[in-house]
Amino acid sequence: MTEPRPFLVGGEWRRSDTVEEVRFPYDHSPVDTFCLARATDLEDAVRSAQEGFGRTRRLPAHERIRILKRFAWLIEERKEDLSRLITLEAGKTAALAHAEVDRAKETILLSAEEAGRIYGEILPLDLTPAAGGRTGYLRRFPIGTVLAITPFNFPFNLACHKIGPAVAAGNAVILKPATKTPLSSLLLGSLLIEAGYPAEAVSVLPCTPDLAEWLVRDERIAYLSFTGSPGVGWRLKEIAGRKRVGLELGGNAAAIVHADADLPYAAERIVQGGFSNAGQVCISVQRVFLHRDIYDDCLAMILERTGALATGDPRDSRIDIGPMISEAAAAEAEEKVREAVFEGASVLAGGKREGTLFFPTVLADTVPTMRVNATEVFAPVITVTPYDTFEKALALANDSVFGLQIGIFTEGLDRAFTAFEECEAGALMVNDVPTFRADAMPYGGIRASGLGREGPRYAIEEMTAMRLMVLNRR
Ligand code: NAD
Repeated sequence: MTEPRPFLVGGEWRRSDTVEEVRFPYDHSPVDTFCLARATDLEDAVRSAQEGFGRTRRLPAHERIRILKRFAWLIEERKEDLSRLITLEAGKTAALAHAEVDRAKETILLSAEEAGRIYGEILPLDLTPAAGGRTGYLRRFPIGTVLAITPFNFPFNLACHKIGPAVAAGNAVILKPATKTPLSSLLLGSLLIEAGYPAEAVSVLPCTPDLAEWLVRDERIAYLSFTGSPGVGWRLKEIAGRKRVGLELGGNAAAIVHADADLPYAAERIVQGGFSNAGQVCISVQRVFLHRDIYDDCLAMILERTGALATGDPRDSRIDIGPMISEAAAAEAEEKVREAVFEGASVLAGGKREGTLFFPTVLADTVPTMRVNATEVFAPVITVTPYDTFEKALALANDSVFGLQIGIFTEGLDRAFTAFEECEAGALMVNDVPTFRADAMPYGGIRASGLGREGPRYAIEEMTAMRLMVLNRR
């Protein structure tokens, strides 16, 4: 029996008596065990981060760039190990796990580039007689200790979206990974130290929610960067005190296919955007609005492509859709579908569950108030609804408590700009699904979907504070 994996406290690997198991979501077979951090470990991590920040904040840009580039190189070198861990802990298909590691490497390289672009401004202050002879120098400085709390669905790249910018800015980091998927994050911690970042500034602490909340409340943490469910995220903001908070939360993303769209392309992207990673993507397509003139044709294409998907063991390269993270998550999605059917919805594809496997599901005849539309389903389930005018489609897409991203398919430039002006979301994808994300772009939501933006350049803004020096030329 191998020893449970230790956690990382300011560069020191430690074990505790509380051991948890990671199980493969497909068949529940044991993958590995790991130790949970205790309150004393958290306290030590915070103190160590404060000390470490004394070093990290003085690292020149060329050092931070060198460390990040080396970190990216180590990720590349360990790509197979990382991909295998992601498949085993999160149940991702091998193709998706490899893609996640590739993206993570890019996220770190983008962070390295941005580390060299943390500029300031020179402000002539002689706009009033009293400020004559004064010049302002405005610069961004690292903020302190960044607490990163991450979800299970992209356990590695989403951690890199927090750690990369934090290092680029020169902050200390404490990473609290999801306890279902801690293995890739523990490896991340060791690679970051191997890359040369001051070890006392690096902690990776799988722990219970109440201990995580203790960290969130701690006034010595300068910034909380949380990605996860809306319920947890908004609660953490309430208890976070005076620290800055960034929230990347969920949604019920909409895709609109207008009558002039390239239907085969739209259908293909919708099926991919709705069902990839078993729908466990914050910008997964959930609500599809099809113009009435093309409703039957486009729906037939969606159903044909859905029918061709293979669901099963994610280690098998012929499988497109792996398991959901847990039986409880799959059962909750099943319950929402069952409820919709009871209220009048029709199941056009899927609707079935076997353990953690949820088969790609297409529902018609739903109404906005059903939970399959009004809440985040976070499963391979899409609803399709016809519409008559583009304005009506936009109103339907906007009719949500969430606002992460919206996708429209149209050949009309005018419609694209109308949608840009009218859509209530963090981003609009034209001729693509809302599920599109390039790691460099500003990413984040409005309303219940969150606060602030990620993407290395934008995350660095959140993780740095402006400071002004005024020079008086006497
Ligand atoms: P979750 O909210 O259950 O967990 C997220 C993280 O918070 C985990 O590390 C978890 O251990 C921790 N946590 C849970 N309760 C806590 C508490 N009381 N105090 C402190 N930490 C706590 O989310 P999940 O199930 O892991 O992930 C799925 C959710 O994440 C979905 O809602 C999805 O939309 C969202 N998500 C959003 C984005 C985005 O960028 N907007 C990306 C991926 C996932």
